[in-house]
Amino acid sequence: MKPDIHPPYHKAKITCACGYEFEAGSTVKEIKVEICSQCHPFFTGKQKLVDSAGRVERFRKKYAKFQNQNKTA
Ligand SMILES: [Zn+2]
Repeated sequence: MKPDIHPPYHKAKITCACGYEFEAGSTVKEIKVEICSQCHPFFTGKQKLVDSAGRVERFRKKYAKFQNQNKTA
């Protein structure tokens, strides 16, 4: 591996919206993600809502309204 052609590689602190923090090798120091292996249904295998702000609930209401509008249209 040649020196000088690679960007600095160090441990990045990754912060998820669910509050989970973990480290990974990266060229940036800090990464913010909205979903991680701790809260993504694909990894958890179930619908686990980590929704402290009630955003999912609001979205569902909005989406239900949207569906109703489509039915009448
Ligand atoms: Zn997460």
